[in-house]
Amino acid sequence: MSETNPYMMVGERLCMDFINTVSWRESAEKRRDWFTSYAKLIDWSVHAEVLTAQQAQDLLVEAGENPSQAEEVLKQVIEMREVMYRMFKSISKKTSPDEQDLACFNEYVNHFYRSLQVIHEKDQYMLKFKQPEKNLDTMLPPILQSAVNLLVSKTELVRVKQCEGDPCGWLFFDTSRNRSRRWCSMADCGNRAKVRRFYQKGK
Ligand SMILES: [Zn+2]
Repeated sequence: MSETNPYMMVGERLCMDFINTVSWRESAEKRRDWFTSYAKLIDWSVHAEVLTAQQAQDLLVEAGENPSQAEEVLKQVIEMREVMYRMFKSISKKTSPDEQDLACFNEYVNHFYRSLQVIHEKDQYMLKFKQPEKNLDTMLPPILQSAVNLLVSKTELVRVKQCEGDPCGWLFFDTSRNRSRRWCSMADCGNRAKVRRFYQKGK
């Protein structure tokens, strides 16, 4: 949840990094959403390698011509992100997701998985989302797919965790061999916890 680097990516899965585009998630005062405009969403998507620089440029032109549509997409992106946040948070706490959230998530699945196609490319068959290039929400399918793949992975779900730093709230996929990771980042929340322990010992 670093304030200094706006594009810190520590989630280890695209869907986790997408969820972590809010700093200090669990704090009412400090909470800061990175997606304050459609342009910011595009910027992050390039950084996350969901969009190429060329795609980003084209989408920004498109958004400039259809500002209200871009606004609408931004609203949907944030809604989907918050639904995913609540679902994966409940997974990290080993509780069931809210039914309404799952229903909402499935609306996105229904919508975007319609464009899934088997494509023949370079002597290989691949499953790809085929949407019109200029769709303003073209960054969403791969993010959604990352979430779906993780959800149905069964064995991997136990690695979904929430940072213990309070009030960080960030989620991550724990890739450590013995599943011992506790913080979004050692340099941030991990370090703050260490400092706190040091002072408590000193008292
Ligand atoms: Zn943290």
